[in-house]
Amino acid sequence: MTVVKTTIDKEESILANVYHRYPLTAVRGRGASLWDPDGKEYIDCMGGYGVAVVGHCNPSVVKAVKEQAEKLITCHGSLYNDARSEFAERMISVAPPGLDKLFLCNSGAEAVECAVKLARKNTSRNDIVSMMGSYHGKTMGALSTTWNQKYRAPFSAVLPKTKFIPFGKLDKAEESVTSDTAAIIVEPVQGESGIHVAPDDFLSGLREISDKNGCLLIFDEVQSGFGRTGKMWASEHWGVTPDIMCAAKGIGGGLPLGATFSTEEIMSSFGPGDHTSTFGGNPLSCSAGIAAIDYMRKEKLIDEASRLGRLFRDGLERLVIDHRVGREVRGLGLMLALELRFEVKNILFDALKSGIILLYSGRNNLRFLPPLVIKEKQIAQVMKVLEDLLAIEDAKIPA
Ligand code: PMP
Repeated sequence: MTVVKTTIDKEESILANVYHRYPLTAVRGRGASLWDPDGKEYIDCMGGYGVAVVGHCNPSVVKAVKEQAEKLITCHGSLYNDARSEFAERMISVAPPGLDKLFLCNSGAEAVECAVKLARKNTSRNDIVSMMGSYHGKTMGALSTTWNQKYRAPFSAVLPKTKFIPFGKLDKAEESVTSDTAAIIVEPVQGESGIHVAPDDFLSGLREISDKNGCLLIFDEVQSGFGRTGKMWASEHWGVTPDIMCAAKGIGGGLPLGATFSTEEIMSSFGPGDHTSTFGGNPLSCSAGIAAIDYMRKEKLIDEASRLGRLFRDGLERLVIDHRVGREVRGLGLMLALELRFEVKNILFDALKSGIILLYSGRNNLRFLPPLVIKEKQIAQVMKVLEDLLAIEDAKIPA
């Protein structure tokens, strides 16, 4: 008898067991919806972990990728390319003031690797100050700046001179930065540890501390950037400009693309060969990135992130008011978390059965990173499913 292996069987038996997986095979996507092989539709509040900013299979991105694939797919950075140069120009046109130089790579972790190397080279210093609760990726350098011990401990730090300070505590930053500090690295909105928004004076305070001590300030906007919070970059909510900024996730319209921004002066510390990437800035990803940014501008998606974010947030806040198991809502724009009074794992799987893909962020938090093209009626459906699930959980608590 021949055994027909399913997609799940194949992946489980062959691929490294490194993801907490959902029992869902996605074969098709459009906007904020995904479909399984049986044609069942799901509302995707995970959004590819925040990648699908302009929506799954955004028609402009699909068209651009098809056209570029016919022309040129790969082109190493040692040759010039029209799609890459156009994408670079677009990115700089929306970059924070003064950050008009770019290094292109393929992922968030790589964007952070570049940032850390650049800071070290520019300052001729080695130490990095990072935040408790931070997440900057899992390659060895980026991992050294990621807070969670669970991720770091088994591999022992490759950059031993990284200090972690409490997110939001300026006095600790002041104490920790020394004449050996190359950079402070911080997410304006921490994503992986439960969506924590920087307190109001924090980023400007870090800016002052960096300037005073001659170290560089790195903002990791891999998750919070590219329109998600209702500004192009979350740091704009506080009007603070870093020396180096990391972006990835949505900037490639769904294709792998990462970017490290800096000033001309700082980026000039790198010379040929200092930092390169075979696939970085490949024409296919860049063509998708051009389409993504043009679509974002044309459809005013940043305003949509604010408007839909308010609607989403109102819905979540109502859930907290109406349900004893709800604790708190946090976030900005369409980067939101609902903290519950218990572990959210069962909610994730139950929501999936009801056609909603949710994300966690720490044990007790549901995280929402939907495409900025999510429809109002999809948000209403998400709230309805959550309403039902929280009512069941409420009923389990003794009166
Ligand atoms: N920085 C931040 C803030 C992130 O949220 C992530 C991914 N969740 C990364 C870096 C790493 O990105 P990647 O998985 O693309 O390497």
